[in-house]
Amino acid sequence: MFCDLLAGEGQASWVARRERASAFLPLAESRLSPAHTLVVPSEHAVGIHDASAEALQAVLLLAQEIARAMEASLGARGVNILSASGPGSDQSVPHLHLHVIPRWQGDGLDTWPSTVSNRQLDDAWLDEVRASLAP
Ligand SMILES: [Zn+2]
Repeated sequence: MFCDLLAGEGQASWVARRERASAFLPLAESRLSPAHTLVVPSEHAVGIHDASAEALQAVLLLAQEIARAMEASLGARGVNILSASGPGSDQSVPHLHLHVIPRWQGDGLDTWPSTVSNRQLDDAWLDEVRASLAP
């Protein structure tokens, strides 16, 4: 779906086009704030697990540009950056994307979820994660 938009099929409100990443507005009904912006890599990746180093770098650098522009042009005094990767994460579109959400003091948006995971892990989880990381 985002690959189609990047290829020029369909309508998008572009905020920025760069060689390796682009930014555009989500559909009006899914905006968490005014100026809520999505940043996606040009190269297809489903999420953080399969994205290349170049795609991750490009997406984060463009998110930084957008955050700075939101501060300079809109007076946003912060941003929240949200992303979901994988079928257990409530990811809506299977193409890596960062939501860059400008914030203003007292804007009424809740930053942190009001629930926590009910998943239980055994005591070895930290050793298992460490063992799965490259040395
Ligand atoms: Zn894609």
